[in-house]
Amino acid sequence: MDLRFTPEEVAFRAEVRGFINDNLPDDIRERLGEGHSPRKQDTVAWQRILNTKGWAAYTWPKQWGGPGWSAVQRMIFLEELQTFPAPEVNPFNIQMLGPVLIQFGTEDQKKRFLPRIANIDDWWCQGFSEPGAGSDLAALKTAARREGDEYIVNGQKIWTSTAHIADWCFVLVRTDPNAPKRQMGISFLLVDMKTPGITVRPIISIDGSHHLNEVFFDDVRVPVSLRVHEENKGWDVAKFLLGNERTGIARLGKSKERVQFAKRMAKEMRANGRPLIEDHEFRRRIATLEIELKSLEITQLRVLSAQKSGEDKQDPLTAVLKLKGTELLQATTELAMDVGGPLSMPDWADELEALSNEPDIGPVWATEATRNYLFLRAASIYGGTNEIMKNIVSKGVLGL
Ligand SMILES: Cc1cc2nc3c(=O)[nH]c(=O)nc-3n(C[C@H](O)[C@H](O)[C@H](O)COP(=O)(O)OP(=O)(O)OC[C@H]3O[C@@H](n4cnc5c(N)ncnc54)[C@H](O)[C@@H]3O)c2cc1C
Repeated sequence: MDLRFTPEEVAFRAEVRGFINDNLPDDIRERLGEGHSPRKQDTVAWQRILNTKGWAAYTWPKQWGGPGWSAVQRMIFLEELQTFPAPEVNPFNIQMLGPVLIQFGTEDQKKRFLPRIANIDDWWCQGFSEPGAGSDLAALKTAARREGDEYIVNGQKIWTSTAHIADWCFVLVRTDPNAPKRQMGISFLLVDMKTPGITVRPIISIDGSHHLNEVFFDDVRVPVSLRVHEENKGWDVAKFLLGNERTGIARLGKSKERVQFAKRMAKEMRANGRPLIEDHEFRRRIATLEIELKSLEITQLRVLSAQKSGEDKQDPLTAVLKLKGTELLQATTELAMDVGGPLSMPDWADELEALSNEPDIGPVWATEATRNYLFLRAASIYGGTNEIMKNIVSKGVLGL
């Protein structure tokens, strides 16, 4: 097992970095450099630039507008976006729905949706989780009753990221309430968010942002032609999609970027009368994180080199990547927040439009670091909780 990058891969990394440097619009570069999260318009603008280069749909085969990259190239590409930092492509479009349609979609569905997904002409969201169905997704209750050429959908989804800004949603629904096994009565539908009967309600996160939503379906009519794969076979589609969702979720590049960011800012901040970067305890913390990041990087390379061109999506080791990757993401975002000390405290009252209009006391980079830290508390929940990852590791990796 060779864990070194080949000369071609090293050259590829330089090409990606060069492209980002030459093409990322200045305003987006500046905002993300200060630690802001990308806005919808940033992601759309950047994904379209990547698409003109043929790189937006970076996990897809050439036939459908992707670059046909190896798993290692994909990893390098993602890591370069994260460390620069540049916006990542919309994961619901590219990592999740695109590959599903390529695998299970009809020719009509592929032709109609894939080019628009790549160019982000449609912004997609994921309607899987429900109040009673998260880790145990097969418990979902949102019902779709067939009436001629249409399904009539009724029920509720929750934690639907970006539903309030989405054009379309891929939704898991129950089409056979009497199936012998719960998994056998589920179908996968593509739903236009403008369809009458859909209500989106915001859930405000602890960082003050509006990212999450509840989505209600009240007699929503969906053409049968917008079902992906066979009726009651939606669970196969969901499993395939969730396997793809976990790939790349370690976000090593993002953690590396946070450590670099913390080091840069620690030169400006002072502790005990000297620059924070010279503080022994701080240096020890950085060194520990960098060692852990390096170990995870090696594990990631082991997973990739065991895969033949990225086909083996069910490798239980990907659960280790998700588990450890999100622990490090939380530790590195905490580090970046701690560098600002008390200056990292945002003015929450202002954020929540309550009484005060006081500005944040600290610089933007410090208060954004706190928002980032708070939002990424959720990283150990989304894409499968870390407890579920531990269950997979105990069975699939340790054989317990
Ligand atoms: C920021 C964020 C964005 C999200 N975006 C989306 C989205 O766009 N679309 C979407 O469909 N969903 C989304 N989700 C939902 C996410 O997939 C679920 O939150 C997740 O699957 C957990 O489900 P739950 O919240 O119902 O928790 P539960 O499944 O109820 O779990 C509660 C607790 O019990 C533990 N637990 C549950 N089962 C077991 C078990 N078998 N063994 C050990 N421990 C267990 C869990 O680890 C957790 O700690 C998002 C969530 C977050 C936080």
